[in-house]
Amino acid sequence: MKIGCHLSVANGFYKAGLQAVSIGANSFQFFTRNPRGGRAKELNLSDLDKLRTLMKEHDFGSILAHGSYTMNLCSNKEETREYAKNLLRDDLKRVAQIPGAIYVFHPGSHVKQGAEKGIEYIIEALNEAITEPLDVVVCLEAMSGKGTEIGRSFEELQRIIEGVKYNENLGVCVDTCHLYSAGYDIIDNLENVLNDFDEILGLNRLKAVHLNDSKMPFNSNKDRHERIGEGTLGLEGILRLINHPVFKNIPFNLETPNEINGYAEEINLLKSNIT
Ligand code: FE
Ligand code: FE
Ligand code: ZN
Repeated sequence: MKIGCHLSVANGFYKAGLQAVSIGANSFQFFTRNPRGGRAKELNLSDLDKLRTLMKEHDFGSILAHGSYTMNLCSNKEETREYAKNLLRDDLKRVAQIPGAIYVFHPGSHVKQGAEKGIEYIIEALNEAITEPLDVVVCLEAMSGKGTEIGRSFEELQRIIEGVKYNENLGVCVDTCHLYSAGYDIIDNLENVLNDFDEILGLNRLKAVHLNDSKMPFNSNKDRHERIGEGTLGLEGILRLINHPVFKNIPFNLETPNEINGYAEEINLLKSNIT
């Protein structure tokens, strides 16, 4: 199993890789820049080389580069959309240099312009940023549907993907907290949810999982992550999910409210329950 958690790369990528290894992880997630936006640090190529070697030594899966939360490609303000487009272009260039990295971003919030309009803007932005076949995998994250979020359903995600010209390397990162909040019952009806995913998106589009429990009830459209086993999803259901063959080679990353020791415990718990 490939599993990790969200880590800081403030001290470099190699250090983050070492920290991942120290907690039993063979993947991790990081923000491409300050999550609230702004300029990204120059990439240090020798640091990335050291990470590449470390990842080989420890049989890492893909790692996840998460875009900024402020990157709203379907804002109602042109200025905000332009800013988001610049972040996206810059992120894609950077992520291509980071070994084994998959890019994950939140599709955006349509701010009462309607999902139609929002989807249109997101497609436009992706087509402007992706002007040739991509080397990196780019994932839209499946969202809980809070406020005016786009990406609350497999249909919305599929409409975006099919609107993008070079979409071979576009995929979806599912977040277990978000799916459950969006009304996909991955706990009591996992098989049906996966069938829906397959029919609408195709399972080949499933590239990554954010593994979180939720503080909020099923179908609440609320986005509050909880520690594994302490929320409404529960340990039993989460263990069933991680053992499903569909997820066999898909990296899981935790975004649970934890310090590093808590992550180490969760990774240990999950790994020891793979059957
Ligand atoms: Fe996210
Ligand atoms: Fe997430
Ligand atoms: Zn979330």
